[in-house]
Amino acid sequence: MASRRTDFLIREQLNRAMKRLNRIIDRYQRLDDFAWILRNQQQEINRVLRNYKGDLGFLTNFFTDEKIDILGAEAVKTFQDSLKAVPQFESLVVGRQRVNQLVNSIKREYGKTTKGVINSLFDNQATKTRRFKIMAQAEKVTTERVAELLGRRGIVKIGGDEFDNKSIGELWDVLTNRYGNHEDVIFTSGHKMPLNTYVNGKAITMTQDINNTVVATESARRGIQVNKISSHGASDSCNIHEGTFVFITETAKQQFLSQHPEIKVARSFKTFAQVKGDRTHIFVFGCRHRLTPAPLQFMSEGAIKKIDPSPSLATTSKEARVMAKEVNEARAS
Ligand SMILES: [Zn+2]
Repeated sequence: MASRRTDFLIREQLNRAMKRLNRIIDRYQRLDDFAWILRNQQQEINRVLRNYKGDLGFLTNFFTDEKIDILGAEAVKTFQDSLKAVPQFESLVVGRQRVNQLVNSIKREYGKTTKGVINSLFDNQATKTRRFKIMAQAEKVTTERVAELLGRRGIVKIGGDEFDNKSIGELWDVLTNRYGNHEDVIFTSGHKMPLNTYVNGKAITMTQDINNTVVATESARRGIQVNKISSHGASDSCNIHEGTFVFITETAKQQFLSQHPEIKVARSFKTFAQVKGDRTHIFVFGCRHRLTPAPLQFMSEGAIKKIDPSPSLATTSKEARVMAKEVNEARAS
C-alpha cells in the first residue's frame, strides 16, 4: 500500500499539471473554429499550431520529472514492508541505484510516448486544417446560388468568400470526425480520447507500472516467483483479480511448480502477462492495482490452505465481457 504522503505529493503534482493543460487547451480553442481557419493563412495556422505544440511540451517533463523518483522509493518500501514478517528476508537490502535506473527507464518510456502523442495530435490538426482549406475552396458558393441560399438556409461570409453554411459545417464535421478536434488523442483503433483524460490515465498507469516493475524485479532477484494483486474494492472488471496471485514470469512459474509440487493451489495461478492480456482492465491503461511479493514457499501450511484457486482465463474473459456490457448499458441509460 502506498503511503498517503506519496499519494498526496503525486496527486498534487498531477492536479497542477492538469490545470496548466486545461488552460492551454482553452487558449487554443480557435483551432476548432472553422471560420477562424478559413479567415487565416495556412502559415498563420501553422504558427499557432507550433505554439500549441510547444506549450504542450511541458507534459513530457511532467512524466520525466525528478519528483517521480519518489515512486521508486515507495515501491521499495512496499516491497520491504511486505516481507518484514518473513524471517528469511529479515536483513533485506534493496540496491537504490538499480531501482533508480529502472525508474528512469520507465520515466523515459512515458516521456517518449507522451511526446509521440503530442506530435501526432499536432500532425492531425495540421493535416485537418490544410485539407479543410483546400476542400472549402471548392465549396465556395457561386454568385448564381447566393440568392437561392439566402432564401433557404443562409450563407456565411468568411474572409471575403461566401460559403453555404450547412455544407461547410458538414465538411468540417467530416474532417473533425477523422482527425479529431484540437484536444483529441486518436488511437490506432480510431478511438478518440480527450488529452486531459489521457494524461490523467497515463499518470495513474505510470504510478502502478513503477511499483509493479520494481516489485516484480526485486522479487525475481530473491527467488520469489509469486506476487499478489492488491484489493481496493474495484467496481470494474479488475475486481475478479483482486487478492489473487500471479507468477511474475512463465519461467518463474515452471521453476516454482517443479520445486514445490506440494503447493497445489499454485497450479491455478496465471502469469502476470496472461492476466494483463485477458480481457479485463487489470494492469492496462488507468488501472491502479499493485503487486506485492508473496513468498508462498515460506508461508505456513495453514496460510496456504486458505488461498482460493485463481479464476480461469475463460472465466475472467467471460466476466469481463458481461461487466463491459453492463457498464455500457448503464452509460446508455
Ligand atoms: Zn485495476
